[in-house]
Amino acid sequence: KERLLQELKDKEDVTLDGTKVKLYANIGDVSDVAEVLKSNAAGIGLFRSEFLYLEKKTYPTEEEQFAAYRQVAEMMAGKEVIIRTLDIGADKQADYFKLKKEENPAMGYRAIRICLTRPEIFRTQLRAIYRASAFGKISIMFPMIASLWEVQKAKEIAASVRDELKEQGVPFGNVAIGIMIETPAAAIISEDLAKEVDFFSIGTNDLVQYTLAIDRQNEKLDEFYDPKHPAVLRLIRFVAESGHKYGCMVGICGELGAETDLTEDFLKMGIDELSVSPSFLLKVREKIRQTDLTK
Ligand code: PEP
Ligand code: MG
Repeated sequence: KERLLQELKDKEDVTLDGTKVKLYANIGDVSDVAEVLKSNAAGIGLFRSEFLYLEKKTYPTEEEQFAAYRQVAEMMAGKEVIIRTLDIGADKQADYFKLKKEENPAMGYRAIRICLTRPEIFRTQLRAIYRASAFGKISIMFPMIASLWEVQKAKEIAASVRDELKEQGVPFGNVAIGIMIETPAAAIISEDLAKEVDFFSIGTNDLVQYTLAIDRQNEKLDEFYDPKHPAVLRLIRFVAESGHKYGCMVGICGELGAETDLTEDFLKMGIDELSVSPSFLLKVREKIRQTDLTK
């Protein structure tokens, strides 16, 4: 079996009927890139940038972040690298943020909510990402979006960072902007959101949690936690339709994207990109190559 999978290493991600699929990888750290390259993924669909913040005693500087993003972009040698902006709070805490204890941290002050209310942190990260984009193909993705104005505000800040870099004569590349669809609200207003961005990436881990109202970390609820719940699958289908209506690429970067029982369903819904943990890449590639979408 191992050897069979190894033979898939350099094979294309294409179905039996010739539909090309973007098979990307999720990473949390620069050190994960080696495994991504080994399986020859077409890109990185989710770079969880939090590690840069969680491993430090204070805010990572622009230079530190730039170095990490640049290194990943260069290692991927022109393949797309989607960097998710800071998704801290809830289960991911760093003391120096001095976040207050909350009754419902999963529904609390986290991710884009921190970035929009503490723009100095957000701008530092965006500057680092844009600067790194001169060294590879980088895209930006905003997490935990629930409302249209959040996307508009985040894009406004990104535009102002670009203006600043231009003024300073600092080079940067052409950077696509996307959002994670991981709240039911975002899924339901996905037609409106699609007009604002280049791509969607469905974060099924949180989408399942918020749709079913089940804490993703509470083991006591395992028998109720059903990532394949029809409510979740219908939302995914709707998001794919909404995105495509407005020329938005639609991917999945939550764990459900690696569920090979669902690969055919996802591709039939028109999902363009599956981003999975590096250890699942070959398994999903094998499934894609066995799938016939005309049947
Ligand atoms: C998700 O919510 O599905 C996701 C990919 O993000 P994270 O698991 O980092 O919250
Ligand atoms: Mg999430």
